[in-house]
Amino acid sequence: MATTTHAPQQDGATERYDVVIIGAGVSGMYALHHLRGMGLSVRAYDGAPTVGGTWWHNRYPGARVDGPSAPLYGYTFSAELVKEWDWTETQSSQGEVLAYLEHVADRFDLRRDIQLETWVEDARYDEATQRWTVDTSTGLCVSARFLVCAVGALSTPNAPDLPGIDDFEGECVHTGSWPQEPVSFAGKRVGVIGTGSSGIQAIPEIAKEALHVTVFQRTPQYTVPARNRPLAPEELAAVRDNWGDVRAGMLAPPPPDAPLPMMQGNGRSAFDETPEQRQALYEALWEQGTLAFVFGNYGELLVNEEINREVCAFLQGKIREIVRDPETADKLMPDHFYGTKRPILDDGYYDTYNRENVTLVDLRQDPIEGMTQVGVRTATGEHPIDVLVLATGFDAISGSMLRLDPRGRGGARLKEKWKSHFHSYLGLMVSDFPNLFMIHGPGTPGVLYLMPLGAELETEWIANCIRHMHEQGMGAVEATHEAELDWDREVNAIANRTLFPKTDSWYTGANIEGKPRHFAVHLGGSGYFHRIAEIADEGYEGLVFHAGPPRNG
Ligand code: NAP
Repeated sequence: MATTTHAPQQDGATERYDVVIIGAGVSGMYALHHLRGMGLSVRAYDGAPTVGGTWWHNRYPGARVDGPSAPLYGYTFSAELVKEWDWTETQSSQGEVLAYLEHVADRFDLRRDIQLETWVEDARYDEATQRWTVDTSTGLCVSARFLVCAVGALSTPNAPDLPGIDDFEGECVHTGSWPQEPVSFAGKRVGVIGTGSSGIQAIPEIAKEALHVTVFQRTPQYTVPARNRPLAPEELAAVRDNWGDVRAGMLAPPPPDAPLPMMQGNGRSAFDETPEQRQALYEALWEQGTLAFVFGNYGELLVNEEINREVCAFLQGKIREIVRDPETADKLMPDHFYGTKRPILDDGYYDTYNRENVTLVDLRQDPIEGMTQVGVRTATGEHPIDVLVLATGFDAISGSMLRLDPRGRGGARLKEKWKSHFHSYLGLMVSDFPNLFMIHGPGTPGVLYLMPLGAELETEWIANCIRHMHEQGMGAVEATHEAELDWDREVNAIANRTLFPKTDSWYTGANIEGKPRHFAVHLGGSGYFHRIAEIADEGYEGLVFHAGPPRNG
């Protein structure tokens, strides 16, 4: 199938490939490996100076995964890779994940087909040639039959519009685009805006080093102890020795009677147990820490208000137990349904507010008015700071595709198409954008499944679709408008059985002013992957294939 050439083309492109991949993070790297393995000519571009995507950009203090590193936060496609990489902690640090991804890049010889420090600035489809033309920040213009957007679900940082920010004379950093040089907090007054996963991981670490930390909190959060620890060799061996079964378990379809496919819980119903038994479970899960607090909980947790409220009350009790100053504890008290914002794990977060050098500002009572030369000005006064840390998250799920804003058939712009709703088919394709595929796009389980395994399975679906086209002599494929609407209904039907849509979160786009509000994550868990495989097996319902490629295409 390979058609690579390096001669200048009539469309201005200097290089031609079967596939261009945008992004060399977890998804882009696997897409390169897999599609290249099919004999396609593939080239990946990434703006960063190395591979790793998210794990390169998010180098803030305390950054680490929150699922068990082995086996859940690693690729699954190679048993040899599983055997040879020694994860050292139950929840790997950012540095270790990045080292792992660097190893994968070398181990599978990916670097020769990745061009780093190269942003894709424009991508446009030409219906006559059935090809994409891609312009990059280095001036390179390339042409490809397929465009695979592995741009990340959490990779476009969201920075608040702070009046006077240009006057601020201190340093300002964002957790999602952390500077390459280490940031020193020693002897400094630090302000942190944001208390999501990133802020909650970073604040305790910064507080250990800084002279003073002022946390500016808009929405209080529930968080559960991470209880990260060294990974025992026998735990790693148990994964390796039973790798076939472990992987099969990760792929197993959810039981049909699960209250929510993505979260089956511990298999027990909360309603079959006494209040005392339920409290005992919550206490045991708190002691255990980790995401077991969600996945080892009752299956009703994310679908039943009464049970969720009980869990919230349990966690609120923990905050009161840990935080000594009752006023600060009050400010830290969340009031949304637990788990409907991304569950968070921490290492001493609530306890950090017992430190003398940490102050909490509740922005709901005392909103930020702007920046001055020397600090943050809120309604009640000025907070002098030397370093401002923005832990303010991302324009999630759709943000990086919108930043790319590809142009489809007839110049159709994605920004225009997604002005009021992020329509996609299977989360993988968008109508009017032939031969464009997304990994972890809106409408996939994305961040609510295992990211590396999800990337593998989505890539393999895309690869099978390309293989099918090749076998059928087809030049272009795209989703129909009707299929997109049906998919949207399916995504919403699952979400509406849960408590997720009841909370403002980045799942619903509520964290970005002016962003369309709707729930854009498929909550089918592994069931999603069975569903898309079935659609492929049954002849790709919802897709239209166009004959081709044209001569010399
Ligand atoms: P986030 O969850 O969106 O949190 C952003 C925080 O900034 C929220 O507290 C938000 O308040 C606040 N904020 C945003 N704009 C603000 C403004 N203008 N003024 C004041 N406060 C503002 O972002 P994140 O913490 O970077 O995490 C994003 C996701 O990345 C996580 O949910 C998770 O999926 C992933 N992540 C994972 C890990 C891990 O695996 N351990 C670590 C970090 C991140 P509101 O809640 O009011 O919007």
